[in-house]
Amino acid sequence: MKIEDDKGVFVFVQQIDGEISGVSFELIGKGRELAKILACQVTAVLLGSGISQLAGELSNFGADQVIVVDDAVLETYMTEPYTHAMTQVIKRYKPEIVLFGATAIGRDLAPRVSARVHTGLTADCTGLEIDPASGCLLMTRPAFGGNIMATIVCAEHRPQMATVRPGVMKRVSETFGTDGRVEQVVLPDLADHVNVEIVEVIKKVSEKMDIMDAKVLISGGRGIGGAEGFRKLEELAEALGGTIASSRAAVDAGWVEKDRQVGQTGKTVRPNLYVACGISGAIQHLAGMEEADIIIAINKDPSAPIFEIADYGVVGDVDKVIPLFIQQIKEEQEKR
Ligand SMILES: Cc1cc2nc3c(=O)[nH]c(=O)nc-3n(C[C@H](O)[C@H](O)[C@H](O)COP(=O)(O)OP(=O)(O)OC[C@H]3O[C@@H](n4cnc5c(N)ncnc54)[C@H](O)[C@@H]3O)c2cc1C
Repeated sequence: MKIEDDKGVFVFVQQIDGEISGVSFELIGKGRELAKILACQVTAVLLGSGISQLAGELSNFGADQVIVVDDAVLETYMTEPYTHAMTQVIKRYKPEIVLFGATAIGRDLAPRVSARVHTGLTADCTGLEIDPASGCLLMTRPAFGGNIMATIVCAEHRPQMATVRPGVMKRVSETFGTDGRVEQVVLPDLADHVNVEIVEVIKKVSEKMDIMDAKVLISGGRGIGGAEGFRKLEELAEALGGTIASSRAAVDAGWVEKDRQVGQTGKTVRPNLYVACGISGAIQHLAGMEEADIIIAINKDPSAPIFEIADYGVVGDVDKVIPLFIQQIKEEQEKR
């Protein structure tokens, strides 16, 4: 059976070098929830070169159907050919909702696609729901510097489009079987949309674990006092098999790299353990870490807002508490 005008929920699948980015699975999971309420299908849209075999993986993670545009032109992400391909898919299948990860690629692609199909786009959503009365997508995101949450509706244009940052939605863990419907779309004019030449791709290789993958995060803020203070946090992180993260204040001060930043303008993390050291707990920071399983806060100010969401709190000076933590953990580890 062919995929007809679907009126369903579409998810743009980001893949790099044949590896599907985690956010795509998170969005398929969320897409399933929305599609269930709307009684429609969730469709993964997979663009790239030599990537057709990834369709089974997408079905396995909950895509009812997969649309594949497999073309040599799409080997490496380029704005124009990807925008053209995604626009053509939307024009052909007329989905109700299209979701993108708010990654560098998603943030480049989604606004262009929304402009070409003459609809709106709500960026960096933290919540997506269906309005039971109208059936419209309620797209919630922080506004005015993160101090309020705004819920945005695209009532008059279709599709309703949103980007969602990686880590905000939970990845589905169940498997669904790999027998979803797959449709190949051929776009003969794709090469006409190539307007840049990629001369070289230089990949940044980091020795440190990505904070979004870490199970344990030892996170430092302004209260750490300087780059030197982060060495102690690294020692604690190493003892617990984790890595370091930070607030924006510590990044702005140049004590740690930007890729360590947690929060509204940093990354969203869901570790098993998050230790917030010398972090006050500003709403923009909480937005990136409040879904951690266990939060421990160390702060010398007993009225710091971070204590309101912490499972365990230590009121004290990080310079004294962290070395005690490290010593205690090492002693416990030596006993084993
Ligand atoms: C649009 C926008 C986006 C933003 N995005 C982000 C974001 O993504 N991530 C983010 O983190 N912030 C973000 N911010 C900034 C945010 O509002 C706060 O300014 C920032 O989180 C504060 O960082 P902090 O907690 O490290 O510093 P502070 O708020 O200055 O807190 C430092 C804390 O350390 C404690 N302290 C000091 N010395 C010690 C010590 N020796 N021992 C123990 N505790 C000590 C203090 O009591 C205090 O609570 C954003 C702001 C805006 C407007």
